[in-house]
This record gives sequence, C-alpha cells and structure tokens, in this order.
Amino acid sequence: MKVTIHRGTHVIGGSCVELRSGGSRIIIDLGKPLMKWGDAEMDFRPYEACSGPELLDEGLLPDVEGLYEWQAPSIDAVLISHAHQDHTGFLNHVHPKIPVYLGEGTRRLIEITTDFTPSKTHLKKTVLLPWPGSFTVGAFRVTPHLVDHSSFGSFAFEIEAGGKRVFYSGDFREHGYIGSKTLDIIRDKCAPGVDALLMEGTMLGRSAEPVLTEQELADEAKVICRECPKAVLVNQSGQNVSRSVSFYKAARASGREFVLDFYSAHVLTELGQCTGGKNLPFPGNQSGIRVWYPKYLTDRMCRQGQDYIPNQYTRWSITKEEMAEKLDKVLLFVRPGMERDLQHIPGLAGSVLIYSLWSGYHDKDATKKFLGALRKMGITERTLHTSGHAPVATLQRLVDTLQPKKLFPIHTLFPQDYGQFGVAVEKIEDGEVKTL
Ligand SMILES: [Zn+2]
Repeated sequence: MKVTIHRGTHVIGGSCVELRSGGSRIIIDLGKPLMKWGDAEMDFRPYEACSGPELLDEGLLPDVEGLYEWQAPSIDAVLISHAHQDHTGFLNHVHPKIPVYLGEGTRRLIEITTDFTPSKTHLKKTVLLPWPGSFTVGAFRVTPHLVDHSSFGSFAFEIEAGGKRVFYSGDFREHGYIGSKTLDIIRDKCAPGVDALLMEGTMLGRSAEPVLTEQELADEAKVICRECPKAVLVNQSGQNVSRSVSFYKAARASGREFVLDFYSAHVLTELGQCTGGKNLPFPGNQSGIRVWYPKYLTDRMCRQGQDYIPNQYTRWSITKEEMAEKLDKVLLFVRPGMERDLQHIPGLAGSVLIYSLWSGYHDKDATKKFLGALRKMGITERTLHTSGHAPVATLQRLVDTLQPKKLFPIHTLFPQDYGQFGVAVEKIEDGEVKTL
C-alpha cells in the first residue's frame, strides 16, 4: 500500500490523504486549509469565487489526478471523517461519479451549513458509512470507528489492502461525552499492530491549555449560572452539540430556560433524528427549551425563501420582552452579529457572556466588535472552553492501543514532537509517496 499525505504533514486543517493499492485509489478528507503558510491563519474569502482549476494552481486544492470534476475520474472513493470545513470544504470539486462516504450526522451538518451560510457544498454521490460494520471499495476494506470530537458523528478509519493496515485517527478526543468509549471501541474492534497510524496532533505545542471534560465544563457553567443575577449569554459554535448539551445541563440545574437561536435549534433538531442523537436537547424533545429569532438571521432566511426553517420552531419562541422580564431565568445562545438584538433587551447590564470557543478566534474582527459592544452594555465576559482534540496523554493511549509499526504525523504544527510516543516516526512531506 502506498500512502501520500497531500496536505497536513506540517499544518492544521485541510488534511487530505491518498492511499493506493492494487490499482485502486482512495482519498480521505478534502478540506479547506485553515492556514496558508506556517501558522498564519488563512482568510479564504478572496478565493471563494475561484474555479477549481484556479484553486489547484494556487496550491490550495490538493493535486490529486482523477479526483476533480474537470478530470477523467480515477479515484475509487472519498472518505470523510467529520463535518468540519477543514475536512470537507472542497467536496464541491469532486467528480460527480466518485462516491463520497460519510456519516449521517456529517451529511446533515454539511446540508445545514449550505442552508445557513454562504459556504455551499453540493453533495453529489454520497454513501452513508455503515456503523458498526465495514465495506469494500476497490482493493480496500474500510472499517469506520466512531470517535468523540467537537463534530457530531466523527469517525476514524481502519483501512486494509494488500496485506497492510492503516489507521487514520481523524480529529478525536477522550474528554467529551462519548470520549470514554472512543478508545474502548478501537481496542475492541481493531487488532493492534497496524502498519501505519496517521495520527492528528493538533494539541501538540498547546500543553498549557487546560483540558476539562465536557462534564467538568458543564459543572463550571452551572456555578456561573447560579451566581449570575441576570442573563447568562453563551457564545459557542451551534454545530458543537456536545457543548450545547453541557450548557443545557447547566441551564436546567440552575433553573434557567435554555434559549437557542433558531439556527442552533435546527442543528440540534436535525442531528436529533440521526443515530445517536435521540437524547439531544432540541425543542419538543427535552423540557425547558425555547427559541429566539435574531433579526438579521431571520430576515436572511426569509429573503432566501427558506422561512420554512425558522417557522418550524415558532411554537417554542420567546420574545425579547419575555426574556427581559426574567433575565435571571434564561441562558441564551448568541453570536457576533446579534449585538443589535441584544441592545433591544432592556436590563442586560450585570449579565455574563460565556465565551466558549478556541482562544484563537477571539481576535477575529467580528468577534472583537461583538464582545466590545457587549462590554459597553455592562456584560461581563468569562471564558469556559475545552478542546475538541486529544491532549498528549490521549494520543499516547491511542498509540499504546494500536501499537503501530510506524507513526505518520498529520494535522499538526509539531511533527517533530511525535518522537515522544515511543514508535518509529515516518518523516514525510506533503505530496511524498511512502510505501508500506
Ligand atoms: Zn475537526
């Protein structure tokens, strides 16, 4: 089997791996880069209007012959580990005859992103990953393994062909709600001694970052909710539903209603229909859930002719006036762009905003403007976050579980730190072909 990491040997985001064996070729993940050169964050907006061939010329699309819609197709399948844009963002360019294998939750999240944001991914030929189970594509036998991550329904892949076995970790962690099962599942289903482990290393170089479990985070949020005399506002990613569960627990334990903007309500409702989602806190499924309608988002959905989405949640709607009457009884999801709406809720001074995203996003212009506006309204900011990625101890446990013959760094800024795991590290550059 031949392994090529087209992107990811020295960078976080935009991972793309190619495996070849017996005349078959498969691709794992096809995301937009988060960084262009070194660790500077990449602003993708100037490239949004570029054609596929232009993106290829710019070095942004991985150079994989036979993958794209303007080429003769020669790739057997694309496997997608999870819904984050840095793993899926270039799917639009895949040739329509090439099947894209992905989880049910991942497909729903991509569709929701297309409904709600300017980032449109038009999925063509999709096949749902069997789980538990495995399947064959060309010369490859693929077994998806469910893992915990900040994206619902994330998978690692175990892939066999020509007598060799590769394990691709995707993005994962142990400290979320299904985290304790992640390594148990792998231990049960995947025999140790894989020929190669392609392991993410996002947290390498970030050892100072505290890693709370989601439950510990929920407990800390509960204390904030109990102590705050006014509203508790939460700025998090609506697609990070583990985090939504944490704040739901905190809200209910402190006698607050869980007030979702209708986008976050829609994400939870849609994922609630997927395998593994039936206990998610969405309107009508759990008690104490209300939905609010930020003006710009509601107007945009109406303009786009998609008012049927917000309209699904009117039964649970809460107005700004009702919130103003009982600020100490609400936990409210907010995001940059909603500052105008918040200015129309009287009495918010003395409230707390919980910032629950990666610290690197704190300096984005829209976020700075939003946080500045809230500060002027007398709202105090608190940070409460935990990573979606595995810290060193978890990475070591994955290595110990799989006992790989070789370790391939991927999705990391620190490939040189992989020596600490006690396994031979394959020094590999983007685009280089390694034979197992
Ligand atoms: Zn991810």
